[in-house]
Amino acid sequence: MFLGHYATGFAAKKISPRTPLPLLLLASQFIDHLWPIFILFGIERVAIVPGITVFTPLDFIYYPWTHSLLMSVAWGVGLGALVYAFRKEIREAVVIAALVPGHWLLDLLAHRPDLPLAPGTTTMFGLGLWNSVPATIAVELTLFAGGIVLYWRATPGASRRSRVVFGSLVTFLLLIYASNTFGPPPPSVEMIGVAGNALWIVILWAWWVEKRSRQ
Ligand SMILES: [Zn+2]
Repeated sequence: MFLGHYATGFAAKKISPRTPLPLLLLASQFIDHLWPIFILFGIERVAIVPGITVFTPLDFIYYPWTHSLLMSVAWGVGLGALVYAFRKEIREAVVIAALVPGHWLLDLLAHRPDLPLAPGTTTMFGLGLWNSVPATIAVELTLFAGGIVLYWRATPGASRRSRVVFGSLVTFLLLIYASNTFGPPPPSVEMIGVAGNALWIVILWAWWVEKRSRQ
């Protein structure tokens, strides 16, 4: 799941309009921002196994610290508490805290059964949407479109400049998605880690969307 995660961040603007978009996207992708760091440090493991699902060649061998249900809730509570400490808005903190495990629920839909309940447990969950390329793309694009519409409606006073930058961010995410979907498998695990970390640019981009358009 990729676009679907950004969709929940966009959509959350409707529930918490004063929360900056970069913060919403950070929360919705939080465990996917930690994961490439954990991969590069060898704390979690992934392998490239073409055919393991028809949609992605990634075999998520071990990732309970970022992608178990329990840890996603824990990261959510932690990030929500941190945001509350700085910004003192309970509604916003709850939205941030919910977005993080919301990522796990979307991954549950997409992944084959490789998502653990908690570190140390052996039961794995995953509903396997990734076993169908058309179904995966249909679900992701539908979620993404819904997220874009909700963000658009939640920001009626956005400037033309902000709309243009938002459009460029949407285009950028679609291009990454297309290259991940139709491009060759990644050349190495290290490249997965490096490319994953490069996605921090999306957070910067989201900040740019709302720069000066926010009061
Ligand atoms: Zn994920």
